Amino acid sequence: MSAIDDLIRARRGEPDRSRPEPGAQAMIFCDRLVRIFTVGGLEVQALQGLDLVVGPGELTALVGASGSGKSTLLGILAALDVPTGGQAIVDGLDLASLRTAQRLAYRRATVGFLWQQTSRNLFTHLTAAQNVTLPMRLAGVGRAERQQRAAELLELMDVADCRDQVVPEMSGGQQQRVAVAVALANRPRVLLADEPTGELDTETAAQVFEAMRTANAELGVTVLIVTHDRAVAQHVRRTIAIRDGRISTEVLRRAETAADGREELVAQEYSVLDRAGRLQLPHEYVTALGMRDRVRLELEPDHIGVWPGQEDGPPGAGDGPGQAAGPGEPGGGPDQAAAGAGDGEPGAGR
Ligand code: ADP
Ligand code: MG
Repeated sequence: MSAIDDLIRARRGEPDRSRPEPGAQAMIFCDRLVRIFTVGGLEVQALQGLDLVVGPGELTALVGASGSGKSTLLGILAALDVPTGGQAIVDGLDLASLRTAQRLAYRRATVGFLWQQTSRNLFTHLTAAQNVTLPMRLAGVGRAERQQRAAELLELMDVADCRDQVVPEMSGGQQQRVAVAVALANRPRVLLADEPTGELDTETAAQVFEAMRTANAELGVTVLIVTHDRAVAQHVRRTIAIRDGRISTEVLRRAETAADGREELVAQEYSVLDRAGRLQLPHEYVTALGMRDRVRLELEPDHIGVWPGQEDGPPGAGDGPGQAAGPGEPGGGPDQAAAGAGDGEPGAGR
């Protein structure tokens, strides 16, 4: 997927010549997204400068503790909420610039959503087929086309047998799969799901996840799923972890063929480097080496070394990055510093 390539390339420091504008090829592009809620005079920073790039056709899981900002992010991407700062661009549309009618059109046709509560996804008194045709009716799609597409989608989601059942007659898993069909009715480019399997047992949850995976593979829709389900997070190519309103780490998985010929997903965890060069070190790494306050960095040909900073150095040490230069480097350190500190070059200035 292109965004993954971009991410890996960015980490390698290779210039990206294929992309003239940041986010121009992304399906979802968030740049320093901030959302502050004010409750009773107190500010809650739900999103604190979140950067995110998701390429067209990606299937991505978003994980994170309760209160980390996942739903806030999805609300903004769904154009149900507006950011306090930063930019969110979906399918080339800058969400902050949409006027009321455009926001409505965006929610109707560009994004589909799936919420945890069935009651938010489906009209209980309608049948599966009626639920799926409704968004198409609102978008002005003709009757014959509506019915044909509803039948196709219910088939694709493996709930064709629920066609004429009203919601209470279906199981929880069937309801959520019908809800995926509803979300896909108007051929959205992006499907957003906020803990869609939170109320389901493991097996049923797997079926609902499989339905979203099918939508991604068969229809090419870009899927972003917020989930606590480890099984889901482990079966997508990319899992993004959000912490305190920012992306903290990402796990990318690629298929490899094992010695016995079977395909397996090999996972690699990455820290996210933002556009200002900020990086969050994993908590367990930092504590393992007792790192705090500052670290020493060294640039090597193919990596950057990070060492615990000296705790008991003389006052003033580490005043500038120049101090971190390796010992004995030609032209670097002490000599030049001494020369700079003196009144001039020997023999000069008389
Ligand atoms: P998550 O979905 O990861 O559990 P949320 O995005 O719902 O997290 O919430 C992130 C933070 O923002 C939390 O501290 C939450 O209390 C706060 N928050 C979310 N929505 C609102 C709101 N409408 N008003 C005030 N605070 C909110
Ligand atoms: Mg939430």
